[in-house]
Amino acid sequence: MPHDHDHDHEHGHGHDHDHEFSELSDVALRVRALETVLAEKGLIDPAALDVIVDTYETRVGPRNGARVVARAWSDSAFKARLLEDGAKAIAELDYGGRGGEHIAVVENTADTHNMVVCTLCSCYPWPVLGLPPVWYKSAPYRSRAVIDPRGVLADFGVTLPEETQIRVWDSTSEMRYLVLPARPEGTDGWSEERLAELVTRDSMIGVGLPLKPGASA
Ligand code: FE
Repeated sequence: MPHDHDHDHEHGHGHDHDHEFSELSDVALRVRALETVLAEKGLIDPAALDVIVDTYETRVGPRNGARVVARAWSDSAFKARLLEDGAKAIAELDYGGRGGEHIAVVENTADTHNMVVCTLCSCYPWPVLGLPPVWYKSAPYRSRAVIDPRGVLADFGVTLPEETQIRVWDSTSEMRYLVLPARPEGTDGWSEERLAELVTRDSMIGVGLPLKPGASA
């Protein structure tokens, strides 16, 4: 079965992923070298690149996803559309674009907890979560999320009842996942804005839970 991932780095090249820092430096150096060559050849405009980087660093981030989740908690018709076709419903809030062409939203319930990983690289729903955290791209997370999801959750400080089933979703560039966490108790009548403040990035990856009312972020 083809598994078409983001092509921002190669797969299966035997690179040692245990040294995140040196790997990042290595990637940063390669990116800089590429950018220089492409700019010298007139193939890219460095100013345009800066705009793209700024977009992902400051405008696109998990606050977008939090607004989507808060809308779903407040509006059952929207929630139904969201679970039916994530990307399409997310576009109602004007979020979309690269990395968000196909997003499936998976709902946490009393019986089932969902968790997202990209086992091969770092596929992630950029328009709603921004850029992935370093641990999401790390080899230990990518392998352990599948083998020992409960252990990974424990590392993140999350303990679920024994009877709760954990489903792990493997993100690809063709289908990326967003977890719809359960609405916290004690939030009846809350506005979407207030609800959104309870929605953490990790709760939308499935390695965390939303904040409880009264807990500080
Ligand atoms: Fe991937």
